[in-house]
Amino acid sequence: MANLSDLEEKIEPIIKAIYETYEKKEATEQARGYIGASVIGKECKRALWYAFRWVDREQFDGRMLRLFQTGHLEEPRLVADLRNTGATVWDCDPATGKQFNAQDHGGHMRGHCDGVAKNILGTDRSPHLLEFKTHSTKSFAELIKKGLADAKPMHYWQMQWYMGQMKLAKGLYMAKNKDTDELFAAYVEFDEALYQKIRDKAESIIFSDRPPEKIHSDGKYYICNMCSFKDVCHGTKPPKFSCRTCVHVTPEPNGDARWSCAKRQDLDGLSIERQRAGCDEHLVIPDLINFADAIDAGDGWIKFKRKNNGLEFIVGFLDSELPMYTSHELCSAHDHNSIGNEDIDRIRKHFGATIEG
Ligand code: SF4
Ligand code: SF4
Repeated sequence: MANLSDLEEKIEPIIKAIYETYEKKEATEQARGYIGASVIGKECKRALWYAFRWVDREQFDGRMLRLFQTGHLEEPRLVADLRNTGATVWDCDPATGKQFNAQDHGGHMRGHCDGVAKNILGTDRSPHLLEFKTHSTKSFAELIKKGLADAKPMHYWQMQWYMGQMKLAKGLYMAKNKDTDELFAAYVEFDEALYQKIRDKAESIIFSDRPPEKIHSDGKYYICNMCSFKDVCHGTKPPKFSCRTCVHVTPEPNGDARWSCAKRQDLDGLSIERQRAGCDEHLVIPDLINFADAIDAGDGWIKFKRKNNGLEFIVGFLDSELPMYTSHELCSAHDHNSIGNEDIDRIRKHFGATIEG
């Protein structure tokens, strides 16, 4: 008889390879350029701002990515289930043939809802927004016990925003227990006050030129501990280099997700590709550097003082004897201790080298 641990050893590479395909695919996809309706209910505004500004890449392992896909795979099945009860369901916008799309604040907040249905049993037959979700047994039990708004505020907020955007007074939330296939449904009434609150929250994040307050000062706090941005937020990891982490950039309230640059007037607007690339005039938003304080600034430069040893350095271009770095070097430094280090700076100057990681 085959040894069980031998079999496990043979099976393990299959599982690993499957998860890796999800991770590789994810790695080729770019971070989204807007705040999504599905995340606006998150507790921490700072995390939403970090994602919007591409401060760091949100990382999910292969298992998690596959789990997200499981949720999407359930959607057409629930559409078919609803149709079988006599409901008229649009899973695409008849005007475009694509998913229903909503956007706000100059296109900086967006979302694609699961559909719209009318003639739903037990309702006045008017059009309802549809939202479908899958749950673990624990999450499903909580949903039944507490109700949608209390158990899943992110889902509830997402629906309220779509209903406000699409001028729908009612919605239907459908959930499936992934372990038992048990279904749950909740009718949702539009709440104008909550819709305005959601819009205000999005506006305050989108148009803030610096990160909002932390939800907690201790990185071990349970929400921070699970957060993709904790190394930048509570640690010393520098932000990623792009226009979105540059002091010169502004998200504009008018247009289709338009961003402008106060420095490079020669550029004909900032396309999303150009934002990803940044430019040599990039000057990092000082609040994103945790290991040093900005103590002075001028046109094209910022002077920082390291918190651990008081050493000063310049980011940008200034006639100074202090170690000087481009914003790109600062954002690329894997070890922040290399910044401001006089020995490393001497070697840099001697060889004309730059910090690349
Ligand atoms: S680490 Fe905590 S405070 Fe920082 S962005 Fe994440 S959740 Fe917010
Ligand atoms: S200065 Fe360069 S990096 Fe900064 S916003 Fe303008 S184009 Fe982007």
